Amino acid sequence: MNEVVWVLIAFLAFAGVILYIRSTRRRGTPEKRAKDDPGRRLAGVKRMFGAGFESILGRSGVSESALRELEESLIAADLGIEAVDRIVEAVRRDRPADAGEARDVIRAEMLRLLEGMDRGLRLDGTPPVVVMVGVNGVGKTTTVAKLAARLQAEGHKPIIGAADTFRPAADTQLLVWAERVGVQVVTGQSGGDPAAVAFDTVEAARARGAGVVLIDTAGRFQTRHNLMQELSKILRVIGRGSDQPSEVLLVMDATTGQSGLAQARRFAELGVTGIILTKLDGTAKGGVVLGVERELSIPVKFIGVGEGLDDLAPFDSQTFLNALLSHE
Ligand code: GDP
Ligand code: MG
Repeated sequence: MNEVVWVLIAFLAFAGVILYIRSTRRRGTPEKRAKDDPGRRLAGVKRMFGAGFESILGRSGVSESALRELEESLIAADLGIEAVDRIVEAVRRDRPADAGEARDVIRAEMLRLLEGMDRGLRLDGTPPVVVMVGVNGVGKTTTVAKLAARLQAEGHKPIIGAADTFRPAADTQLLVWAERVGVQVVTGQSGGDPAAVAFDTVEAARARGAGVVLIDTAGRFQTRHNLMQELSKILRVIGRGSDQPSEVLLVMDATTGQSGLAQARRFAELGVTGIILTKLDGTAKGGVVLGVERELSIPVKFIGVGEGLDDLAPFDSQTFLNALLSHE
């Protein structure tokens, strides 16, 4: 009798260990999963269409009041008027029978809204120059470092211009990052001419015969006329030395939502070619991607999903919508 019990216990323990190993194999560690799939790190984004979404459309088919509630929740999620109108119209038109179908309709319409944007990073020009602009604290410097790491890993030879000469010790932050990535930084004097730093960086890249130039800039508040003038000058100087910058990327903090849009419009006038939305890991309002892109008619090219060097991902509509409309 005793033996039977022991054999049973041993068998159960063995089966348990096997099942545990299989389950961890399949899932990997949380860190690994997050690394493999930046969409997974959009944890807050999911909350947008959590239980609320199910309850709005799951109750009694799609009534007018359910549509109104949907509209309100989409507006609250920072999707912007145009995207909200189109999504609500699609739901009204297709009359989904339940929440699952509604989710499909919404997903399809969001995909249509995100389609047709050229999201690739353009690296033409000799050397290609990528300039980061945006207000203070949105994540420009961090994003320059992340992008340098990414380009480095892809075999480009990035070189960074620390053209934020306004903030004392701004380049210290950049030098620490650059050291970790293993890329060169061209610095100027504190309070010096940022355009001169940009120019020197382009020259340095050309002297080395290779490289993608990444220019970090200051982000003093854009209502101060001189910031815009300063940025224009940087772009002009680069344009004189080589081609126009191949990319002028507007860095925006996703957690500031639609209120960041007024500022963004000022920057857009500088000829911004792409948007990088940072801090998507820290917001429940992932819909802001759609809102910003539609309002500015400028593609979101990358998203920031954390403070680490590898927390920058090319924006991918499918991955993003999977996170946004996840059932989990
Ligand atoms: P800058 O003033 O525009 O250059 O902004 P910084 O690069 O100095 O970043 C400001 C703060 O935002 C820093 O604490 C960064 O670590 C943080 N940050 C930047 N990008 C992200 C992101 O994608 N997610 C999170 N959670 N924090 C970020
Ligand atoms: Mg900075």
